[in-house]
Amino acid sequence: MTSAKAAATVVVVGSVNMDLVAHAARLPAPGETLIGQAFAGTPGGKGGNQAVAASRLGAEVALIGRVGLRQHGEDLLRALEAERVHTQAVRRDDATWPGVAVIMVASEGGENAIVVVPGSNADLAPADVEQGGALLRQARVVVAQLEVPVPAIQRAFEIARESGVTTVLNAAPAQDLPAGLLALSDWLIVNETEALQLARAVTLPGDADELTIARATAAHLRTLGPRHVLVTLGAAGAWLLCDAHPEGLHLVAARVDAVDTVGAGDTLVGGLAVGLAEGLVAARAVALGQSAAALAVSRAGVQQAMPHRSELPELPE
Ligand code: ADP
Repeated sequence: MTSAKAAATVVVVGSVNMDLVAHAARLPAPGETLIGQAFAGTPGGKGGNQAVAASRLGAEVALIGRVGLRQHGEDLLRALEAERVHTQAVRRDDATWPGVAVIMVASEGGENAIVVVPGSNADLAPADVEQGGALLRQARVVVAQLEVPVPAIQRAFEIARESGVTTVLNAAPAQDLPAGLLALSDWLIVNETEALQLARAVTLPGDADELTIARATAAHLRTLGPRHVLVTLGAAGAWLLCDAHPEGLHLVAARVDAVDTVGAGDTLVGGLAVGLAEGLVAARAVALGQSAAALAVSRAGVQQAMPHRSELPELPE
């Protein structure tokens, strides 16, 4: 590195999918064949999305994952490399299918139906993660989501922790977790649905508003190990609970005309990871992620909507 300020280093352990999106006037009924209006195949998966978000926001990013080379696999790897995401620690499998999401969207009303087939993502093993051990040890921040098997994430966080690397778990999609994984997570990031699922032990009044839900679930989740808990609330922003904000802090979202909110959380997590890698304090790192997410929801698409750093306004002091 010749620049005065070394690039931040973020390692993402996660999934890579090809999203196959078909648009038709409406969703077909079971057994029905409809003629659609448009089709696109775009790279996705929470791991790939967060890696691209972090790379566009200025971090040096590597992905640890597994990609089957049947059909769309090479395209997925090339797309990541075009976004300057390092793929040397992505294991390639000649004989298997990569992760695929088959998505149908109704042009009238925007309803959708989705089948995600994890494919090679489901094969990511602790041994694959160990192959990327040097990357994990040298990182500033390691990020994972729940579209790859938990034992692989747990191994990555163990290696990261041994070297004092910050671990960020985005517990999405919602699923129950072993206590050991939460104990290895410095940050836990969940949306409201995921927070409610993970904090089922918390009883809430039926008419609880979103801030009440965030406050109660975050307090419970923090007792399970993570020093920082962030509950994201869509257009209502996010609730941060950590040592610096022991009573919790409501971080409001910028007001934007939302065009497509798919991938908002992935953009936020990518931006947060960049902020942490750059040494920002917790609330400012969240604010960086939120600023990127607000811009992303104002544009169509997932990865294609993610902003580059130069597009973001300066963070207020
Ligand atoms: P997920 O995509 O995981 O469900 P959220 O919908 O909670 O996550 O969104 C994550 C973050 O993205 C929010 O905390 C907020 O900062 C930002 N965001 C989401 N939707 C909007 C919106 N309509 N306007 C502005 N910011 C938004």
